[in-house]
Amino acid sequence: PAVVMSWPQRFASPPRPKEETDSGLKMVKTIREDLGLYKVRLVLRTGQPGQVPEIETITKYDINDYKTKSELTRSKLLTTLTTAIRSWKQLEKIERSRKGLEKIIQASNSLMEIQGINQFAEGVITQLSAFLSLSPEGLLCVEDNLDFGENTPIGIIIAAAGQYKEFVNKRVEELDDKTMVEQITSAFIQKKNIYDENSIALFFYDSLSRRKFVTWIGSVQPMEKIDHNLLEIFCKNISLSIQNVNLIELLKLQAWEDPLLHIPNLAALNRFLSQESSISKENPYLLAVTDIDHFSQINDYFGYSYGNQILKSMSDHLKNILSSEVFISRISADVFGIAGNKKVLKPEILKGIAETNLEIQGGNIFVTACIGYTLLDNPEEAVESLNNAAISLKKAKSEGFGHIKEYDKTLGLDIRNRNKILLDLRSAIQGNQLFLVFQPQFNINDRKLLGFEALIRWKKPDGSFIPPDLFIPLAEQGGLMTSIGDWVLQSALKTQKYLIEEGFPSYRIAVNISAVQLRDPDFLKDIDRAIEITGVDPAFVELEITESSAVTGIDNVVGLLKGIKDRGVTLAVDDFGTGYSSLSTIEQWPIDRLKIDKSFIQKIEDTPHVRIIDLVIPLAKRLSLKTIAEGVETEMQLEKLIQWGCDEIQGYLLGKPMDIAVLIEWLKEKEKTP
Ligand code: C2E
Ligand code: CA
Ligand code: CA
Repeated sequence: PAVVMSWPQRFASPPRPKEETDSGLKMVKTIREDLGLYKVRLVLRTGQPGQVPEIETITKYDINDYKTKSELTRSKLLTTLTTAIRSWKQLEKIERSRKGLEKIIQASNSLMEIQGINQFAEGVITQLSAFLSLSPEGLLCVEDNLDFGENTPIGIIIAAAGQYKEFVNKRVEELDDKTMVEQITSAFIQKKNIYDENSIALFFYDSLSRRKFVTWIGSVQPMEKIDHNLLEIFCKNISLSIQNVNLIELLKLQAWEDPLLHIPNLAALNRFLSQESSISKENPYLLAVTDIDHFSQINDYFGYSYGNQILKSMSDHLKNILSSEVFISRISADVFGIAGNKKVLKPEILKGIAETNLEIQGGNIFVTACIGYTLLDNPEEAVESLNNAAISLKKAKSEGFGHIKEYDKTLGLDIRNRNKILLDLRSAIQGNQLFLVFQPQFNINDRKLLGFEALIRWKKPDGSFIPPDLFIPLAEQGGLMTSIGDWVLQSALKTQKYLIEEGFPSYRIAVNISAVQLRDPDFLKDIDRAIEITGVDPAFVELEITESSAVTGIDNVVGLLKGIKDRGVTLAVDDFGTGYSSLSTIEQWPIDRLKIDKSFIQKIEDTPHVRIIDLVIPLAKRLSLKTIAEGVETEMQLEKLIQWGCDEIQGYLLGKPMDIAVLIEWLKEKEKTP
């Protein structure tokens, strides 16, 4: 490891090369550069004090020491050599750990590519054996969580190499060698590596799955401290790699499985449909999507865990009533996707899904669900069919709870039809075919008139009406809604002004605001302008927004709503109960009124339903919000609403939407009969 050379170097013969003044230097160069021996320590000795090598040379060739001849006494030589050898040892150690670290990185890299924990476990043994330069001989076990309560942790051997192979899937205690069992057990208990004379037990922990692992390797040479350190690093790396492997397994599983219900998810349904080669014209499949009615309310009022139980029961119910050949999946929060050969999945079966008693927490709850379905006779159209089923589901929902709707072409208006309506709508705007009707709103107790909701109408030149439900979504998509909405706002306020000028008292006027308007950066200016042009008192202007229109595509909903409220107008949440946003979001909104959707009112008379409405009104009161029920058609509904403490009502029972001429007559009539 160390060489002491004289300066200039004298070599023994033969052959004796001609000694030159820089022979020693050349030799150093050869050792370092040509032979690449950079660990070898070099001590230079010189006789002629004048021939001192330059500092540059000493640093360049990593020369340890430089001594003159006279300095090198016997004891000095010994010290010099000892120091040199010590420093060589140091270098050796560093070199070894560098190689060790390299091996660790290599091992981690190759372990990273392995998929599945069992294969991974085998990889750990192989890599570890290679790291310790041994032939693979050992095992890896995982703590069995099921027996966690017991005092002694129980390890299950999940991989083994060499003579231990037969022990895979067995318990650690079944191993013949009791000291080995002891060593593994104490690694589990102490959560650290246990080194014995000839064996090591290394501990790993996967924080993701919260599982503990111990790997045991035998016939190990006694180790130096440096190797222990390296092994610790090795273990840390393995722990990380295990997490990766588990994460990948988890992700893979999640790619196809719903984590809550452990049934296939949307991706799995799509894969199933597009790969099901038996689907054909002769052998069509029925594809249905079903959505539990007012599920988001159930979640809100009864809590998520209750909601989860409903989903679980629904999933069990589906498995119960449908043949095992039917593919059942959860494709979004409360939407299940069902597919199966039409011979086994007949449309009649769907009735058992639309209305059913689910068992939850030992009791029964009556649940309704809407279903949209379509037939699929070509696997290549799977995605489109799923879309069509979703369109029919939407239609079913619009018809009320527990409805089932088969897809037909008119449901999703085709492009040509849409364009035609949009074109007609453009000329309708110019040709004054649009006008407003006004539906009265009352105080529930004394039936005192409070105001009106403005509703748009489109009368075509041939006298037919196009319903707003149809043309408003088209106007939104076709870029016409901001100007229509602005027109509605101004016209409604003008009417209000007009009524005052006609001598009627100030009535509140409620105007529907589309999602497109909310997203329009000029919306606040539009409100200001409408108020300015008409000069009405903004306190008598109410804007109706839906939960979903407020949450989609707006970053700062609360800020926007506050901006609207700053104008002095009031805000109502329309169609409350049908949206998907949770109450906790709405709680933060600066709103005045909740409009309970008419679908709830119309269900008042059917008894067995989950009575969301029972809870909405008290809840609204707690949030200091007024409630208005829309679509009230019968005295009985009105009676119930009074009992529940609802504040206001609107509906055919007390007043239909009226155009301005009819409205004025109606108001005059009303004044006559107090
Ligand atoms: P909406 O805002 O929920 O309006 C209430 C709807 O319920 C109106 O239908 C109204 O005529 C109807 N209605 C009122 N009382 C009863 C009742 O007792 N029974 C039943 N079955 N229905 C009743 P309409 O006028 O066809 O409007 C439908 C939807 O079109 C509105 O629902 C609203 O979302 C939209 N809409 C109407 N006018 C406008 C508007 O000017 N701007 C915007 N953005 N949307 C509008
Ligand atoms: Ca409305
Ligand atoms: Ca409504």
